[in-house]
Amino acid sequence: MALLFHSKIKRDDWWRAELKKHVPDLEVRFYPDIGNPDDIEFALCFAMPHGVLASLPNLKAVFSLGAGVDHFFEDPEFPRHLPIARVIDEELTDRMSEYVLQHVLNHHRYQHRYDQQQREHIWKEKHAPAARNRKVGILGLGALGTGAALTLKMMNFDVAGWSRSKKEVKGVESFAGPDELDAFLARTEILICLLPLTEETTGVLSRDLFAKLPEGAAIINPGRGPQLVEQDLVDALDSGHLSAATLDVFHTEPLPKENPLWAHPKVRITPHVASIAAPDRVAALAAENILRARSGEILLNQVDPDKGY
Ligand code: NAP
Repeated sequence: MALLFHSKIKRDDWWRAELKKHVPDLEVRFYPDIGNPDDIEFALCFAMPHGVLASLPNLKAVFSLGAGVDHFFEDPEFPRHLPIARVIDEELTDRMSEYVLQHVLNHHRYQHRYDQQQREHIWKEKHAPAARNRKVGILGLGALGTGAALTLKMMNFDVAGWSRSKKEVKGVESFAGPDELDAFLARTEILICLLPLTEETTGVLSRDLFAKLPEGAAIINPGRGPQLVEQDLVDALDSGHLSAATLDVFHTEPLPKENPLWAHPKVRITPHVASIAAPDRVAALAAENILRARSGEILLNQVDPDKGY
């Protein structure tokens, strides 16, 4: 029995040792060294080259190295009948909450203005309202969105979330479904996108959505690049309707050097670092799921293929 591993970060010996610590009889192979495809029963990966998973006739389950599973569904040949597990982890959530808090505070306190003013040697105050009077909205109130909402609540921000189904998160106003999106947007001064990438959420951060935010709103996108229509963001920033944006994820990563977002004075860019799952936790989770798959149990954090996340 073998597991096929693929990640852009190369730490093959570490992964082999860590997985075998939990499942001693597991053989770990590293793409592209598949060996005999018949031997592979599990895959632990992020963005495996298209078609590879479909070429493994005895694959029993696939495990994502991260919270997102869009990389599986992007592969047109992905075998959709396979059980898929993703990472839900306290440390992953904490790291995302840190990122969200950092950038909400930057927008709340108008840091992008002061950065620009510093470049121009301008001393000009603009006082922020108290956090309790700052309305923050999170698109996606799942594992990461809920963690971020609770962290923002600790700072007393006025927090709401939007999801497919209604949520009960203490102190956080819950909006659900397409019918409640406009009301959610109308009250949101700082918008964070923590939606998974699906057909429905592709291009959600668009001209139409920006127009429903109040004048001067800011956006933070640590979700996925294709959720943002980049030109619509540039237009909304240039017209002054949006005040600033922080982007962690992009259509093309690394963001091409010639992309105008790099030089936009109202855009702050981070290189897809908002949060990462700690490898020891991912390995332990994958090991637990191998044991579960072997005994025919439901996987931990199993994804609903119909919902796509
Ligand atoms: P999750 O637990 O599955 O939560 C997703 C949330 O989005 C849920 O509340 C879900 O609603 C909502 N949602 C999905 N589709 C929707 C739709 N069409 N309309 C309204 N709401 C919708 O996912 P997560 O673990 O929080 O992760 C979210 C995403 O963050 C990942 O998929 C990944 O793309 C991204 N991420 C980025 C980084 C980074 O470093 N930048 C790191 C980790 C993850 P229901 O609860 O009602 O189903």
